[in-house]
Amino acid sequence: MTTTTNAAAFAAAQQVIPGGVDSPVRAFGSVGGTPRFMASARGAYLTDVEGAEYVDLVCSWGPMLLGHNDPRVVEAVHAAVDRGLSFGTSVEGETELARLIASRVPVERVRFVSTGTEATMTALRLARGVTGRNLIVKFAGCYHGHSDGLLAAAGSGVATQALPGSAGVTEAAASETIVVDYNDRAALGAVFAEKGERIAAVITEAVPCNMGVVEPAEGYNAFLREITRRHGALLIWDEVLTGFRATATGGWGLSGQPEGWTPDIWCFGKVIGGGMPAAALAGSEEIMNHLAPLGPVYQAGTLSGNPVAMAAGIATLGDADESVYAAVQRASDALREGVVSAFDAAGLDHSIQRAGTLFSVAFGTSERGVHDYADAQGQEVFRYAPFFQSMLEQGVYLPPSVFEAWFVSAAHDDAAIGRVLDALPAAARAAAAATPQG
Ligand SMILES: *Cc1c(COP(=O)(O)O)cnc(C)c1O
Repeated sequence: MTTTTNAAAFAAAQQVIPGGVDSPVRAFGSVGGTPRFMASARGAYLTDVEGAEYVDLVCSWGPMLLGHNDPRVVEAVHAAVDRGLSFGTSVEGETELARLIASRVPVERVRFVSTGTEATMTALRLARGVTGRNLIVKFAGCYHGHSDGLLAAAGSGVATQALPGSAGVTEAAASETIVVDYNDRAALGAVFAEKGERIAAVITEAVPCNMGVVEPAEGYNAFLREITRRHGALLIWDEVLTGFRATATGGWGLSGQPEGWTPDIWCFGKVIGGGMPAAALAGSEEIMNHLAPLGPVYQAGTLSGNPVAMAAGIATLGDADESVYAAVQRASDALREGVVSAFDAAGLDHSIQRAGTLFSVAFGTSERGVHDYADAQGQEVFRYAPFFQSMLEQGVYLPPSVFEAWFVSAAHDDAAIGRVLDALPAAARAAAAATPQG
């Protein structure tokens, strides 16, 4: 099959795939225009089916920490492919990747799955199995994959019993999830005061990055640790996005590590697969041994710990040394500073939220900043589409939604960042000129 334009590729896809995409954000629904069909990638750049090149600020939503097609990762994957794609047995790579993870964060046991969704879904089951309780608390605006109980979302407001966040999710599933505003200690305190002995776990992103980046207030994560422990509930720490990307020790490196505490169940994905499908849940021996075959909490996966995925993860994590994180941080800082000066020059009101190497922009929020989902939703969303389209036309591929972090890699050198900086002024002017009607 040969397709020569993005439009033709998208039209063909829509004939056989719902909406033409396998993950909704790829459809460009909130930014308009034609989704780009990528043909190849190298370093900091993506190339689409028309041969157009873009500086990539998505990095496959996080995994490509070293840059696309890093030779060390490609070589490791080729070698793994030569040995066989899948055996349906254990392979030594699983032990090696588990050890790499445990060398960075204080976990004793790691169970590999294929997607972040599976990791968080299993973490909930494990927390319920360990505690014998049913209720889960999540925060509005945090994304933990698309399993039923975690899609439940509620409007803003204090603690609300969740309504199903999607057709096809039963009220029964949604009713076991309590949604609380992020950064609101009093709301969570009230939920625990009322239902504390029925709460199996609080699940949180180490740093929320799926409503744009939202920084936890000083001491907020430590508060989550303390209140869950006091009530006999577990703290599920979702590092699927931030893990080994925000810092060398993930989002934990920004709060738990300097403050000296650890969560109960960790979830990883994205970077640990290096671009292949791999994710994991992890924790202490005591908690993790509740999983089958040792314990009564069942979980399994035909392709879990796949040897090719393990090879990509080992090569990526193994090569992500201090110099890699320094390079990613440098690129992120240069980009963020360029955004600020371009936005200021265009008179564009904004705020920037940061989490280590990750950041995101929000329009019209300079006064309040963004501290929860209501703040994120209350921003001037209409400015993003013209900003995004201007950047795209100038060869920069941003996340096709304002509610996402911007991702860079160690391959984003001065030349790549320079191309983005050159594109920013015109895009900032387009955003400044935007009106709510479009
Ligand atoms: C991406 C993401 C997930 C889901 O991972 P998938 O591999 O897409 O299923 C879960 N939690 C967070 C915080 C994520 O960013």
